[in-house]
Amino acid sequence: MYLIGLTGGIASGKSTVATRLGEHGAVGIDADQLAREVVEPGTPGLAAISAEFGSNVLLPDGSLNRPALGAIIFADPERRERLNAITHPAVRQLTRDRIAAADASDPHAIVVYDVPLLADAVAGGLVTFDLVVVVHADATTRIQRMIDLRGLTEAEATQRIGAQATDAERLALADVVIDNTGTLDATLAQVDALWERVVAAAAGEIAVIDGIRSP
Ligand code: ATP
Repeated sequence: MYLIGLTGGIASGKSTVATRLGEHGAVGIDADQLAREVVEPGTPGLAAISAEFGSNVLLPDGSLNRPALGAIIFADPERRERLNAITHPAVRQLTRDRIAAADASDPHAIVVYDVPLLADAVAGGLVTFDLVVVVHADATTRIQRMIDLRGLTEAEATQRIGAQATDAERLALADVVIDNTGTLDATLAQVDALWERVVAAAAGEIAVIDGIRSP
């Protein structure tokens, strides 16, 4: 297996890049999706949350009432920690399981793990990537896309960017940077070129991607 960590700030274009890599044949694993799975109805995660925070964090259909839980943990760092103590180990375990399953079903798979908090995953020893790809778009472009495509106000979009790691922190992790400030076509061309090199690197045919270390 060849494991790519894909990250970028909010609305940088991670999903766009992950989808294109998937069209080329990469197996996608999405950290946000795994975080939702561990609190689905019927999971031990949701049972633990309801035991900890009370049934008022559940909707009538038994699913998680995210705004209600959000209001509790936003106001109280200690309770936020208790939530993290429930969800984080479950997400970590599911991540390991999914990566192991991808490897077991095809040892030659190229796996793309789309993870907004990539630095945490690395620092926590959760995964070791063969290649880290950072999708980059400048803040002005990302704010405009959040306003145009997601209906946020400028203030909301700016606040979301401010709550995340900085561009410099993310770029410091990158083996390869995809510049998604321009047109979609320009970005997809970069992804297509990257895919060809990744296939060659995964096959052991080349040792270097973009002049930067690769496995
Ligand atoms: P999030 O951090 O919220 O998960 P993301 O990093 O996965 O977002 P995308 O969803 O891929 O980002 O892109 C954000 C929005 O911008 C989407 O609506 C997408 O269609 C659009 N978009 C992405 N790249 C471009 C581009 N080059 N030109 C115009 N729009 C784009």
